Amino acid sequence: MAVRATASRFPIDSDALEASGLPWGLTVTPFASKDESGIGPAYGSNGHLLPRCEHCYAYFNTYCELDQWAWTCSLCGTLNGLPSDAIARYSYPHDSIPEMSSSFVDLELPLDGSEQEMTQARPVYLAAIDLSSSEEFLELTKSALLAALEALSPGSLFGLATFSHKIGLYDVQGPIPVVKNVFIPPDAERKLPLELEDAMPLLQFLAPVETCKDRIAAALETLRPITSWERSSGAAQGIDGVLMGGRGFGTAMEALFNYLGSEFGNTFALARVFAFISGPPDYGRGQLDTSRYGEQYASKRVDADRALLPEQTPFYKDLATIAVESGVCVDLFAVTNEYTDLASLKFVSIESGGSLFLYSSTDDSTLPQDMFRMLNRPYAFNCVLRLRTSTEFKPLHSYGHFFPDPQYENLQHIICCDSYATYAYDFDFANNTGFSRHSREPPVVQIAFQYTVVVPPEGLQNSELPSSNRGKHLLQRRLRIRTMQFETAQNINETYDSVDPEVVLSLLVHKVILVSLEDGVREGRALLHDWLVILTAQYNDAYNLVQYKKGNKSMSSQIDITFSQCPQLEPLPRLVFALLRNPLLRFHEEGVHPDYRIYLQCLFSVLEPSSLHCGIYPSLVSYSTPDKQAYPRHSLSRAALITSGSPIFFLDAYTTLIVFYTSTADPSLPFPPPQDCLLRKNINMVKQGRSITPKLMFIREGKDDATAFENYLIEEQDVDGSGFASARGFVSFLDDVSQSVAEYMK
Ligand SMILES: [Zn+2]
Repeated sequence: MAVRATASRFPIDSDALEASGLPWGLTVTPFASKDESGIGPAYGSNGHLLPRCEHCYAYFNTYCELDQWAWTCSLCGTLNGLPSDAIARYSYPHDSIPEMSSSFVDLELPLDGSEQEMTQARPVYLAAIDLSSSEEFLELTKSALLAALEALSPGSLFGLATFSHKIGLYDVQGPIPVVKNVFIPPDAERKLPLELEDAMPLLQFLAPVETCKDRIAAALETLRPITSWERSSGAAQGIDGVLMGGRGFGTAMEALFNYLGSEFGNTFALARVFAFISGPPDYGRGQLDTSRYGEQYASKRVDADRALLPEQTPFYKDLATIAVESGVCVDLFAVTNEYTDLASLKFVSIESGGSLFLYSSTDDSTLPQDMFRMLNRPYAFNCVLRLRTSTEFKPLHSYGHFFPDPQYENLQHIICCDSYATYAYDFDFANNTGFSRHSREPPVVQIAFQYTVVVPPEGLQNSELPSSNRGKHLLQRRLRIRTMQFETAQNINETYDSVDPEVVLSLLVHKVILVSLEDGVREGRALLHDWLVILTAQYNDAYNLVQYKKGNKSMSSQIDITFSQCPQLEPLPRLVFALLRNPLLRFHEEGVHPDYRIYLQCLFSVLEPSSLHCGIYPSLVSYSTPDKQAYPRHSLSRAALITSGSPIFFLDAYTTLIVFYTSTADPSLPFPPPQDCLLRKNINMVKQGRSITPKLMFIREGKDDATAFENYLIEEQDVDGSGFASARGFVSFLDDVSQSVAEYMK
């Protein structure tokens, strides 16, 4: 569990918080195996015996004062009696007890009744493939699924289904694959004529991966796109013989979730559905009207971004609820350059704990690699995340892909998450008092994360299991707790000096995404601009005050727009500028596809702060040869490139990696860089540590089209994209902010 706060020294009270102009909160990556400094938890068992405060329910931790019979809660100060079993346990040497030796613990919990009955739950996977598509799409999907089959552990069950104007279920357990079709009624009201269970019993459909791999592959080979002849002879004929389309995604998903749901809690504890889609659902339930995209495009008077960001139907939100109730988590892979309205579709994935992937073309798609990567990393499911604070402050908002608990405040449910998934909270003071200036009790945050993992057979080799259980998957319920103490800032400069700009960026990104979803992209941009103006004004006020106190009466009237006295704040104007230049917040008129914007919103809402930094302001490293790095960091400006004089640049924009050889590079430098060089090693390292597979490009200036690279050199671009010819970009942005600051300070 990695936790990073906006500042390591908290503001002393709400006046100090407001005066700082900074957001106050933290990000948490609960399933990360290490903390933010790379240290793992102390492992143990019997998490249910960990003493809890009778007043605030916080867990006992290393910051609590412990007497022989009692302990004092480090969050609320309550004196609690120690249960007798704990008295006995805590009289042993402390280093053998996790909660006594570390403030970061991971303890096994006993399974509850329903879990107990199904400790041998098998991992279940279902692929649902869009046949209302092209040969290229199916080729790509096949190679992704072949990669997936290699990554699935023995003992997993796999089901293959297709959808178009009908649902196809494959039985791969017999000598040759057999498909059973169920036709989808064209209109949204009518239900399927036949339950899927009646077409094929679920346990016949779900095949063991280790014995059926070859037949699953063979079945994949038989997939063909639905032809227009098939469609028109099927149920897809509309009024006057007009072809109604044939992508019955909504009906198919609903039916498949209900189908799987019958074995939820019996065969499996979590089933993962991979849905491959090549365009908008246009048939059956959950049809999407894609003409709204064309209409917005035609009339530019409306804020197109505002019109295209909200969902057009609650169908997919409701569908996500059905998925969750059926124990299903959906990963949605959209391979299309057609408007697909991900704004409506996204809910079925993010609200069920899955991910949303968008590939604009089948040519350079990293889908198979993404798939392999996703299945190869551990995940936690059925998670409950709870953040507690000491009494002086409280969590205000929470951000990320989770469900709030209907009953308890500040309790979040996460259906499924991997070690990258990150969530954010911001704080407010509980009252006007704030933290006492002279108190010896520092602010404390405790994050508790309860989760279930499937432990594959090989992970259990050394444990003492009855032999009948060997070779089977087991469920394990665990409780991970992290308790952190912070300091308070005695003055505003201490706050500024302890800022983590990447975490500030994370909270800003969450806020602007929410605002743009509610009020449009224009509002999101305005919010960000105003935020920077206020921060700059507050910082200048604070700095002038320090100068004044030092007896420096001739204060400079110049506004310090670059935060030159505070290295921790210095990156922020650049990050705000870059965020305004990011497709996340660029205008529709600049050619940002609405589906791409939604994809970025979903991606950026789960990234940990350093990855997000990279996505917003890519890192640019120069090399003098493929084996020798020149400078570790350049600003994203053409001028910086030219003045550096380096021949090779490596740009990392999180989703894209670009190796760029300048036109002045020595022709004897090998291109592309050879496999064993330093640059390649660095590229591979970057690729390995990433949640998605970045696209890798090699560009030679003067020989290849360099647009992809040049687009990332944002500092010479105009912040609102209105005048590309202007070479003043970031400089004129600072001028503009400086003027607004001067007005604001008056
Ligand atoms: Zn307490």
